[in-house]
Amino acid sequence: MAGRGQRHIVIIGGGTAGSVLAARLSEDEAKRVTLLEAGPDETAYNASVLEPARAPEAWQGLCPVATTMMRYEGGIIPILQGRMLGGTSAANGLATLRGLPEDYDGWAASGLAGWSWADVIDNFKAAETDLDFPDSPIHGATGPLTVRRWTRGEMSRAQIAFQDAMTEIGERAVSDINDPSQLPGIGVFPVTIQDNGERLTTSMAYLTSEVRQRENLSIRTDSAVARIQLEGNRATGVVLENGEELAADEVVVSIGALWSPVLLMRSGIGPAAHLAEYGIRAVVDLPVGESLHDHLGPTVPYRQEGLRGGIAGPAQSLYIGASNGKDVDYHLFPIAAAPAAEGPTMFAMAAFLLRSSGQGSVRLGDAPDAEPIVTAPPLPDDGIDRLRHAFQRIAQWEKTEAFAQSGCVPVFPCDLSEESAIPAAIARGLTSYGHMTSTCPMGTVLDADCRVLGIEGLRVVDASVMPTIPSGNTYLGCVMIAERVARKMNA
Ligand SMILES: Cc1cc2nc3c(=O)[nH]c(=O)nc-3n(C[C@H](O)[C@H](O)[C@H](O)COP(=O)(O)OP(=O)(O)OC[C@H]3O[C@@H](n4cnc5c(N)ncnc54)[C@H](O)[C@@H]3O)c2cc1C
Repeated sequence: MAGRGQRHIVIIGGGTAGSVLAARLSEDEAKRVTLLEAGPDETAYNASVLEPARAPEAWQGLCPVATTMMRYEGGIIPILQGRMLGGTSAANGLATLRGLPEDYDGWAASGLAGWSWADVIDNFKAAETDLDFPDSPIHGATGPLTVRRWTRGEMSRAQIAFQDAMTEIGERAVSDINDPSQLPGIGVFPVTIQDNGERLTTSMAYLTSEVRQRENLSIRTDSAVARIQLEGNRATGVVLENGEELAADEVVVSIGALWSPVLLMRSGIGPAAHLAEYGIRAVVDLPVGESLHDHLGPTVPYRQEGLRGGIAGPAQSLYIGASNGKDVDYHLFPIAAAPAAEGPTMFAMAAFLLRSSGQGSVRLGDAPDAEPIVTAPPLPDDGIDRLRHAFQRIAQWEKTEAFAQSGCVPVFPCDLSEESAIPAAIARGLTSYGHMTSTCPMGTVLDADCRVLGIEGLRVVDASVMPTIPSGNTYLGCVMIAERVARKMNA
């Protein structure tokens, strides 16, 4: 129970954003914070979670993950989310990027005061200790997340070959791909890693043993929430899946872009007509789940001569491209491909479009408590034109000396600069970068402080609140949002 005068905040989900929120909100002794996480604590982490080089193994189900099928015209993409303290920050590729200033300036221009690049840069800085650029005006030097870049000695053969090939064809070598003034160009992913070389999840970085000793913070793992309790238009608590009820002065939902909209809808907050199909009366009629964004793209697979079995390591080299020569709009890099226990090591060149049509959706499934129906956003109308530039780069890399020396062999040899190459690759299957956002966006579902419109005492704070997807990987954006909202809630 909250102590006398303390405001009881219940955070649902101890993932990327939820861990940050729990740590920051419990800095304020006027609050009592309860963090409810569906999965286990960090002690249950499999070794594959901790070893960055084994990150792709985590995606093979070696750590607690939930898999949701995302449909698109032409196929299904399995989407993983971490189901443990740390959430997807414990199962992702460790890439620690911010996106571009214009992404956040666009949020502010859409009417969301306080979310411009100039506003959020301090929150990005507060989150990190950048070991490579501690004195840079755009980086932090005292934050919980230790950030550094992969060294050449840590990089796999395919990653080095790609780096070298891009410089061989004249692309700019970029020392810090989080510095927008250096883009477009070829660089190395910044990653969040501990001093001992192991992965640093947001729970490890923020929910330290010192923080866990706070009397006003209670962390409960294996505690999945089934529903938000509402009295009229006020959130008064939560009901756990085991039936336990917990009262709260304020509830914060942080269960990720695929599940936060589901929990809202199950609790009577969402599109009234859709909820009516399940006999759920909409307490407020909001477009929850109606604007799913993601970074999608085709891949071009390769095998590596001389390397057998196992899974290629994590993505380390990154080319950030601009199809018009100046405005960054795609990522191109080698990623691990499906493992083949006995065959050669496989990887694929992935070309991810940084623009999303935002026309995907999350809807309730066969029943409110069944798996949701997730539909990927169709590629934007100009998507294939933008991707053509990326495919020309892949075609160029295949002609470089670095490629010839690397032992990389295309699985489907063809001329990638031909018109048909992209539709053919898309027909083999689209891939998701795993960057689902915007299913409870600020602007239409939430106000600029992430409060649910029309409901007292209820916020959403995670990837789902982004009004549009940033032009970069989304994990650090979730951290920034949690840092920013917590600072406001503590003010
Ligand atoms: C395979 C993969 C690789 C990725 N790689 C990168 C990368 O390298 N860099 C990057 O920036 N981004 C990456 N991303 C995306 C990024 O990790 C996510 O955008 C981000 O971590 C999402 O954070 P979140 O707080 O929204 O949700 P999550 O971190 O997923 O947290 C949600 C939490 O809620 C918990 N939860 C769920 N349901 C309930 C419930 N009912 N009750 C209580 N708790 C519940 C979950 O267990 C989880 O802990 C990747 C994504 C995937 C899928």
